[in-house]
Amino acid sequence: KERGRANWVHYADGMERPASAHVRLGGDLRRALDNGEFRLFYQPIVALAGGRIVGVEALVRWEDPERGLVSPAEFIPAAERTGLIVPLGRWVLRETCRQAAAWLAEFGPDVLEKAAPNVSVRQLHDPDFVADVAAALADHGLPPARLVLELTESAVLRGHQVSEVLHELHAMGVRLALDDFGTGESSLSLLRAFPAAIVKLDKSFVDGIELDDPGTPAADARQAVARAVVQLADALGLDTVAEGIENQEQADRLLRLGYTVGQGYHLGRPMPAEKLTEIFAARQRVAAAA
Ligand code: C2E
Ligand code: MG
Ligand code: MG
Ligand code: MG
Repeated sequence: KERGRANWVHYADGMERPASAHVRLGGDLRRALDNGEFRLFYQPIVALAGGRIVGVEALVRWEDPERGLVSPAEFIPAAERTGLIVPLGRWVLRETCRQAAAWLAEFGPDVLEKAAPNVSVRQLHDPDFVADVAAALADHGLPPARLVLELTESAVLRGHQVSEVLHELHAMGVRLALDDFGTGESSLSLLRAFPAAIVKLDKSFVDGIELDDPGTPAADARQAVARAVVQLADALGLDTVAEGIENQEQADRLLRLGYTVGQGYHLGRPMPAEKLTEIFAARQRVAAAA
């Protein structure tokens, strides 16, 4: 208590840190959810050869009336700590299903193969989770195979209860992706036991992968990891997505290593749904004209 108070004074005494993150977040997040201040951005997931959009990842933003758009890095940890991630994640899931179904209805089945929200481990422990997923799909008429749930390795590693939930989702036809692959305590046996469909190679293995001057062992190591991950995924029948692609050289290199699908600022930034709707509409006009 003493310590908390001292910290508070410390922040309030106004080093640079503005009125803050840590102190305010808990209660604010609940209110923000009630007030409808969260919104989803969507980042394209793209075929490295040809550039077709094969899917989208849903990324939550908080549109704080005072601070503007707040990044999930600032509030997801607090939401996880307080448990608010459960209702917030439920909203993310439903909103992703609604938007994906709307795009499919407007542009047809080829507009995108899948939509992928992130799911936190707290949600997997929520006894209603599987029923919530089923309801989100049914209420919006989204086929289960169009939904990919992104989970981190640490989430998956924790416990039997989670494993049962994952098998139920898999049985329902929903696809599961292992996010940030390579950064956690990943084990190869995990990949075999887990009903994953997709492995997302973490950005940290993509950064610098295009550099190959002799004498940069770090780049060599990244390439070795990237190559090993795609080979393992192929052997196990899993799809891959390379994350955090920021330039064409990285895309070319990943393509040569065996990746066919990627995501990153170079291929498309996270953007509001309306922006993607414009892109889909423009592509449809081009296709119609051809
Ligand atoms: P993630 O699931 O690994 O999402 C990818 C993050 O990398 C996103 O950050 C995206 O904007 C960013 N990114 C994509 N391409 C590039 C690139 O080329 N360069 C760089 N520097 N960054 C790139 P964002 O949107 O800030 O999200 C951060 C993390 O917050 C996500 O990482 C995810 O773990 C979490 N998150 C976001 N939305 C949700 C959500 O609805 N629920 C949960 N539980 N977590 C979420
Ligand atoms: Mg993700
Ligand atoms: Mg990721
Ligand atoms: Mg990542």
